[in-house]
Amino acid sequence: MKLSKLAIEIAESPTFALNEEARLLKERGEAVINLGIGEPKNKTPIAAMLASGAKLSSGEIKYTPPDGLPAMKKAVIRYTEENYNRLVAPENVIITNGAKQSLFNIFYSILNPQDEVIMIAPYWVSYAEMIKMCMGIPVVVTPEDGTFVPRFEDIERAVTSSTRAIIVNSPNNPSGAIYPPELIDKIVNMCEKKGIFMICDDIYHKLTFDRNVAIPAWTFAKKDIEDSHIIVVNGVAKLYGMTGFRIGWVVAPRALIKVMTNVIAQTTSCVSPLAQAAAEGALNGLQSVVEALRLQIQNNRDVVLQEMRTFNGARLIEPKGTFYALPDIRAFNNNSVEVSRFLLKKAMVVTVPGKEFGMEGHIRLSFAGSVKDITEGIARIKWALDPTSPNEIYIGDKKMIRDWM
Ligand code: PMP
Repeated sequence: MKLSKLAIEIAESPTFALNEEARLLKERGEAVINLGIGEPKNKTPIAAMLASGAKLSSGEIKYTPPDGLPAMKKAVIRYTEENYNRLVAPENVIITNGAKQSLFNIFYSILNPQDEVIMIAPYWVSYAEMIKMCMGIPVVVTPEDGTFVPRFEDIERAVTSSTRAIIVNSPNNPSGAIYPPELIDKIVNMCEKKGIFMICDDIYHKLTFDRNVAIPAWTFAKKDIEDSHIIVVNGVAKLYGMTGFRIGWVVAPRALIKVMTNVIAQTTSCVSPLAQAAAEGALNGLQSVVEALRLQIQNNRDVVLQEMRTFNGARLIEPKGTFYALPDIRAFNNNSVEVSRFLLKKAMVVTVPGKEFGMEGHIRLSFAGSVKDITEGIARIKWALDPTSPNEIYIGDKKMIRDWM
């Protein structure tokens, strides 16, 4: 069968693939622990349920404008004013099917074939594939060994006459790093001077721990929104744990939003009004749900730190935000794909190989789930990899003995 060369080269999403593998193992009765996918366990906020329920009961479920329902855009404008201190116009906002569609449509709307987009390693798995789908070229900047924060000089050195954009994802999936304000400032300046788009993937911007905050790029902008080249991507998936509603949004210069609106109008038409109503409900509802989720995730992070302290050989840089930890497991095996496979086979724990994020020698652990899963999951990983840990463990009701060291 002849298929598109471009399409068949697109890699499978490793997190979804691993999730499916875990689901099948669970179905077979195996005691699998999924530390793979980034999905909080909370219920949908009540305000979101009520708003989409009311919309459903109205029976008026029709197409919406391709750029989003005016009321939903208004909620985003208010959110932007409150959290970014920027008053933007409805023409600066578009609502999409998740932040994923936001990003894809941005790349589609800004890239010509062979244009380059700078990504900072470790980076979220989907960026590179999306850039390639839009005929662009991902250019990776890797921080010095052992760190997750790049030097500005290394970013600057990666810029060429073909550079169209740089993606900044802070707090960062998969490392949990937050880039320092000085770095953000320098990137904003560089982008303004050179006319490069700075795509801020802010999906985790409220999920920060202790006193750490992610300062928005706009704080450092010297130009106004129409000229600054800053593009902000956000959504409800991580903010409210509303992953299944598929609502994201973009705040950007009008000229870009106009093109993106045409792209949506000709592809998916619009986002379901049921999902938009839910997101609007969440944005306009009680925001204590965000803080409750943040506190729960921060507690989970503390559990990870505590469990990792007794993991001899693994090195972890403390996550400052998100719900991911990216321990360095090079003391056991440099090949993270092999390690992840081994952990699933022997310990029934799903992890994501760091290689997928451009950070070989590491594995990503999601701590979005329950404390029990985190504690037991890390105990099993220690048992599988660390020879100084006890060599017997229970997996489900089966007593397992480590016989490979
Ligand atoms: N950006 C990053 C960094 C993410 O981790 C994710 C979700 N895993 C997304 C974007 C996509 O979010 P959504 O579910 O809204 O499409």
